[in-house]
Formats: sequence, C-alpha cells, structure tokens
Amino acid sequence: MSSDEHVLIIGGGIAGVAMSICLDKAGIHSTVYEGYPHHKHAGASFVVAPNGQRILQSLGLGAELAANSVPDPGRIRFFSSIDEEIASFHLPPQNATGTPDVCVERAELLRILLGEAARRGIQVHYGKRLFSLEQGPQSVTAHFEDGSQATGSLLIGADGAKSRVRSALFPHVQLQHKKTWAVYGKGSADCLTAEERELIEKELVVYEKDGLNVLLYQDHPTKPENYAWLLTGKTERKIPSKNFEHKPKDELRADLAKLFADWTGPVPRMVATSRALTPVQLFRIGRLPSWSSGRVALIGDAVHTTNPISGLGVTLALEDALHLSRMLREHDYQDAFFYYCADRQPQVDEILEAIPDLFDSITSLLSWPEYAFPIDWSANDDASLV
Ligand SMILES: Cc1cc2nc3c(=O)[nH]c(=O)nc-3n(C[C@H](O)[C@H](O)[C@H](O)COP(=O)(O)OP(=O)(O)OC[C@H]3O[C@@H](n4cnc5c(N)ncnc54)[C@H](O)[C@@H]3O)c2cc1C
Repeated sequence: MSSDEHVLIIGGGIAGVAMSICLDKAGIHSTVYEGYPHHKHAGASFVVAPNGQRILQSLGLGAELAANSVPDPGRIRFFSSIDEEIASFHLPPQNATGTPDVCVERAELLRILLGEAARRGIQVHYGKRLFSLEQGPQSVTAHFEDGSQATGSLLIGADGAKSRVRSALFPHVQLQHKKTWAVYGKGSADCLTAEERELIEKELVVYEKDGLNVLLYQDHPTKPENYAWLLTGKTERKIPSKNFEHKPKDELRADLAKLFADWTGPVPRMVATSRALTPVQLFRIGRLPSWSSGRVALIGDAVHTTNPISGLGVTLALEDALHLSRMLREHDYQDAFFYYCADRQPQVDEILEAIPDLFDSITSLLSWPEYAFPIDWSANDDASLV
C-alpha cells in the first residue's frame, strides 16, 4: 500500500487507536472516528497477555504499561460465598515465554495509546458515530450520524462487538447471545480487611455460588482505587437492556446487593462501595465468511468477541492491529486483507472455542489452552514495525 493513501478507522477503543499507531509506524496515514462525544473514562480492567505486552513495548509504550499495571500473580484461589476455601492452584501460563499477564485499567491503557497517537499527530475525532458506509472502485466513504462524512482508500472497523461496520459488510451474520452476563467493577482497598488485601495482592481470588462467580484482583500499583472485580452469571435468555445495561447504576447496585445478601467475605462490601459498574451481556459472532470485504476490514471485538475470563480480548486486538499493519505495509490491500484473515482466523477461532465461558468448571481452568499468535520479532529495525 502506498503512503499517500488514507485509512479511516471506525472506533477509538484499544483496537482502533492501536491500529492507527501501527499504521503510522508502517508509514500509512489514518484518522480515527469515535462514536462517543468525547474521551470517556469507561470500563474497569483487563489483562494483557505476553504478546500484547510485547506489541506495546514495540510501540515504545512498555515502560508506561509497566508503571501502570500489576503482574498477574499466576495463582488462583477459589472460595465459596461463605468464605470457605474450595481450591487453589497455579494457572497454566498462556504461552511458553513464562512472562506473566499484567492487569491494567482499560481507561489507563487507552490513555497511554491516545498519548502516543497524539505524539504522532494522528487525529481522533469524537462524536462521529458511523451510520453507513459506501464502497466505490477507488475509495470508501463513511457516513456519520451527525450528517458528516469522510472518504479514504480503506476503512477498518474497530467498533466493538456490536459493530456497525460488520453489519454493513455481512448483514446476515448475527450476534448470538451466550446466555452469560458480566459486570466489571472498580473499587478501593478501604472496604477490605488487611488479610483480604494481602490475599488479593498475592493471588487472583474467585468467590462463587450457584453459577455466580466474582473474580477480585489488583489493577494498578499505586492508585487509591486499584481493585477490580468481574462478576459473571448465567441467564436462559437475553436480559432486556433496560433491566441491565441501561439501568441506572444505583438500581443495578441495589440488584447486586440482593444477589449477595447471604454472602460473607469481601464481595458484598466491594460491590456496595464500587463507584464504576459496567454491565455487559456476552455474544458470539456467527461464522464470518471473511474478516474483510472489498476495501473494508474488521479488527478487535468487531471480528471476534471474547469472554471476559479469557483475558485475551485486548491482546487479540493488538495482534490484529500489528499483523494487519504489517500486511498492508508489504502488499496491496487485497493481498493484505487476504493474508490477515488467512493467518489469524483459524487460530483465533480455535482458541476462542477452547476457552470455557465461565469459571464454573475449575478443572477446565487447569487445561487452559496455550495461545500465542506467532509474531516474528527477529527483524526489529524500525521499518519492521516492531
Ligand atoms: C465502554 C467499554 C468498557 C469496557 N470495559 C471493559 C472492562 O472493564 N474489562 C474488559 O475486559 N473489557 C472491557 N471492555 C471490552 C474491551 O475493551 C475489549 O474487549 C478489548 O479492548 C478490544 O477492544 P476493541 O477496541 O476491539 O472494542 P471496544 O473496546 O468495544 O471499542 C470499540 C469502540 O468503538 C466505538 N464505537 C462503537 N460503535 C461505533 C460506531 N458506530 N461509530 C463509531 N464508533 C463506534 C465504541 O464507542 C468504542 O470506543 C469494554 C469496552 C467498552 C466499549
């Protein structure tokens, strides 16, 4: 792809902003269009697996990541809802490097990536929610809900699990509800006893009862609000959004308090005192015929939804951004899109199939599949992107 072409990126989450930086390193100009009216401190936290960390290092962001994240302790301990220990074991590493995953706030990683994008002069436009797109023989045009439009040589859909870009490309591919819901939360150590703090510093801790699981962990070395939790549960049918994602946060917190009414231990205290709650329902994207169509390709959650306990959503998004940028640097866009999909789709499908949906089977965690998309790190001159 030549350097005078311009790429439109729809979605200013981790995938979209990382893509713009990787493209810039590959000598390709891009602009990011984000639907939110302004940069938002949203979500709780996630883990970045070794491949993801290495990609961030290759973008010059390793030190900032290290200063704002906490290494995953590598051990997990299960308790019942009344604080009785059920099991404790070492988690198998997600790849052979032996490097631990790191836990980091979503907003912190996004801040780090946006800082790098700004340093590179990459423009990120807010309040630009994609409405539709139109492909021509030489270009693609994005139409936004505010009535404006933008035209580029290519368009990358990085607009998350409910991607409008994906629906435009593949209108018949549906999102299937996984009969699973999750709430991401952030809290502080103030509600924990000294013993509980010490435990969570040393191990990932899961409390569980009747299909409800709550994972507690640390996600920042120094911030006052540096504890994160992930609650997962099951439901037979999709919960109406008005009763969950769109419910006022105080009402949602009251619903959660009822769920934990007979629990002892730190969970009810942590949930009751957490300011930020992010409720999500989990979906699987139906089989996609390809990860691109014409001049448009998909990356991140727009092309492969993960479940929160996989700890792979961010890393997969970073791998997509790096690999697609490398392919676009080497090839014309048709070949680049072909190799991007051919190289990644089979591996990603296989790993996501193998990961359990919930923490409901402790034994399945013991046979956690090893995953690391092979990235050639050997050629580390600047032109190689790494
Ligand atoms: C608000 C929010 C909070 C989250 N919190 C957590 C969390 O606490 N823990 C966790 O494990 N995962 C969380 N996730 C999911 C996690 O960020 C992703 O799994 C992972 O980072 C891959 O990111 P992505 O960029 O592909 O997708 P996303 O993070 O979903 O980003 C997609 C971006 O596209 C934007 N967008 C959507 N539709 C349009 C449109 N039509 N036009 C323009 N822009 C659009 C969205 O506003 C969003 O900024 C969260 C996602 C979001 C959006």
